Amino acid sequence: MIAEEPLLFEIGSDDKTAVDFPPQPDAEECLGSCRRTKKIGLPGLSEPEAMRHYTRLSQMNISVDSAFYPLGSCTMKYNPRLNEKMAALSGFSEIHPFQPQNTVQGALEAIYILNELLAELTGMKAVAFSPAAGAHGELCGMMTIRAALTHRGDAREVVLVPESAHGTNPATAAMCGYRIETIPVNAEGLVDIAALQKRLVHGEKNVAAFMLTNPNTCGLFERDILKMADMVHEAGAFFYMDGANFNAIMGHVKPADLGVDAMHINVHKTFSTPHGGGGPGAGPVVFNAELAPFMPLPWVEKDGDTYRLIEANDGSVHSFGRMRAFNGQFAVLIRALAYILAMGLPGLRQAAEDAVLNANYVRVKLQDILHLPYPGTCMHEVLFDDSSLEGTGVTTLDIAKNLIDAGFHPMTIYFPLIVHGAMLIEPTETESKRTLDEFVAAVRSIVAKAKEGKAEELTAAPVNAFRRRLDETTAARNPVLVYKDETQ
Ligand SMILES: *Cc1c(COP(=O)(O)O)cnc(C)c1O
Repeated sequence: MIAEEPLLFEIGSDDKTAVDFPPQPDAEECLGSCRRTKKIGLPGLSEPEAMRHYTRLSQMNISVDSAFYPLGSCTMKYNPRLNEKMAALSGFSEIHPFQPQNTVQGALEAIYILNELLAELTGMKAVAFSPAAGAHGELCGMMTIRAALTHRGDAREVVLVPESAHGTNPATAAMCGYRIETIPVNAEGLVDIAALQKRLVHGEKNVAAFMLTNPNTCGLFERDILKMADMVHEAGAFFYMDGANFNAIMGHVKPADLGVDAMHINVHKTFSTPHGGGGPGAGPVVFNAELAPFMPLPWVEKDGDTYRLIEANDGSVHSFGRMRAFNGQFAVLIRALAYILAMGLPGLRQAAEDAVLNANYVRVKLQDILHLPYPGTCMHEVLFDDSSLEGTGVTTLDIAKNLIDAGFHPMTIYFPLIVHGAMLIEPTETESKRTLDEFVAAVRSIVAKAKEGKAEELTAAPVNAFRRRLDETTAARNPVLVYKDETQ
């Protein structure tokens, strides 16, 4: 068991630093009223102290490099070290966005190649690279749709979102000023297409866009997607696809062929670099020809043998502007490029197939003891609920906490919201049968204990983890995020 880890502020002291500057005796004071009057308030640590602190913290977590991490909807696949090696090449890692473009031609070429690959994989026309993650990509998509609608003089107020959607979908549309209307999901876990039709065909003509995740958050392929796309377009609206689950279909389906007008790609899900550590991601958005002129700056174009970063509207495009300073999460995009090139199209297709196979293996191995709200074949993730444990005093939360004791990261729990006691398991393609069997055995043993009346033991978990159960309500309602030095 690892010892309690103090805060950086508690380890450090004012007289220590990891960097030594020579004294500056005669430097002229020119700060005037901007001069700091209080202490800077940063922790003072030596380099080994800082390094050990973060290494110790990292050992308290279950990570994708230490254990199976079947966190549904997050695609926590293995991150090949080749990606890291490529992103660390000095031509990529030691450049600056203010450098003249003729000194960073290789970096621009890399983005240009990634652009072509993502356009090919999705069947789309253009790629906006600056969004920092999936949710930011959704915002980019909705802002682009709004710009296109404004351009055609057709301001619309409503965005339709299925009730199974990830919370970022309604949140981003609302941030863009749209009113959200929810479309129900049917007993099979799919969008209620009659309800969608009723809203689009018989309702007011004020729908800007329909946002759909496919495969959806229940792990199911929305097989009526072509019909939905037609309805959306007939109503004069745009069809936005949340591409978070692209891992299940990459190399098999081009979203453009499904009638999609815009989609973000969570490269930190689909193309390795999983984002569980809260580290950087990237959310490039692909657009069809109609939306492409409105997407945010910048993008890369090729002129003969020269690559150019387009950073301003030149009259032929109607970009709504920028989404952020500089050009995007460059190193994450390089990792995605390295992954795609290493896999090749056959490799990507195989990865999607294996992801689906692994999820269905887990489904078949557990469906006799856990209830499937939507029985039948799933895509890359399998959704159970805890109704088979009714009366045992054991719930989804307890299964998750006991999996920590068994050495696994828990599955996603209580999402999607439409399924009570949801457990969303996404093994990804990078796991072996042996790992899946160990996980299945752990779940079976927890469920068996629940049915033997051992609720008291199970509700005490985790006992092998660094932290026991937390008071999550207080933590969420009353977060303490700022260090206060009690000694001052
Ligand atoms: C992960 C996810 C998002 C948000 O993506 P981030 O990269 O985490 O911002 C949106 N929708 C779905 C379905 C997701 O799984």
